[in-house]
Amino acid sequence: MKGTYLGQVRYSAPISEGIILLKISLLEPKVVDFKAGQYLAVLLPESGKQAYYSIASSPNKKNEVELLVKEDKLGAGSSYLFSLSVGDSIELMMPMGEAFIRDKSQRDAVFVGGASGASYARSMIHYLDESGQLEHRRVHYFLGVREAAELMELEYMYQLTEKHATFHFYPVVSDPKCWNGYTGPITGVVDTVLPNDLSEWEAYAAGSPEMVKALATLLISKKGLTAERFFSDLYTPEDSES
Ligand SMILES: Cc1cc2nc3c(=O)[nH]c(=O)nc-3n(C[C@H](O)[C@H](O)[C@H](O)COP(=O)(O)OP(=O)(O)OC[C@H]3O[C@@H](n4cnc5c(N)ncnc54)[C@H](O)[C@@H]3O)c2cc1C
Repeated sequence: MKGTYLGQVRYSAPISEGIILLKISLLEPKVVDFKAGQYLAVLLPESGKQAYYSIASSPNKKNEVELLVKEDKLGAGSSYLFSLSVGDSIELMMPMGEAFIRDKSQRDAVFVGGASGASYARSMIHYLDESGQLEHRRVHYFLGVREAAELMELEYMYQLTEKHATFHFYPVVSDPKCWNGYTGPITGVVDTVLPNDLSEWEAYAAGSPEMVKALATLLISKKGLTAERFFSDLYTPEDSES
């Protein structure tokens, strides 16, 4: 059930160019139950408003939540989170969202994260790995960024591809300078790499609403994904696919 939590920053450091990883210990209540892929609201003390962030950690970690936050010097939420130091308190409201992992499913899954949208996929990937589900479930993870320096946790992702033949990782960089891998818009790479019949698959996406919408159109209209199996808290295909 959704509730308000008082937390304390335990760790804050860049995880890639322009994105920080924040680790927040829960003080009151001390534990939270959530599902991988859910998000939370940060209460902004100055304005009393809320800003929303995917929970980047696995739900197996119950006394702490991790966030990946993209720098936005004019943004109230981003500036607040970037200003926090270890030991500072923070108020959170959680858990929220319906786009969590369907973890009893055996279906192939495609995860797509644009920049800080990686946070959403990160929670689900860590959870599937820890719970042994990657042994029998195929996952294709596309991480899209503008520049190679924005890519994050490459070592962990490549280790997973070695550990599980079922896990496939595709980092995609829009600016091809200093990058020899996949380039271009992430939807183009998804289109090329994945088969044309995704009628039995599930998809999970986070990033800019424009990217998520373009991805939904590609997967549903071109590749036969069932609209009900496209999960994102940023866009619901049923609203506009008809
Ligand atoms: C479900 C969900 C999950 C999300 N998960 C994440 C996540 O994991 N990580 C993440 O980084 N983000 C995430 N976001 C996005 C995040 O919630 C914010 O939208 C983002 O951090 C920017 O919000 P803000 O409060 O910082 O900006 P706001 O203050 O709300 O400003 C909105 C935009 O307007 C611009 N702006 C403000 N003032 C001016 C001005 N004077 N001139 C020009 N431009 C201006 C800002 O730069 C900003 O881009 C998520 C959003 C949703 C809905």
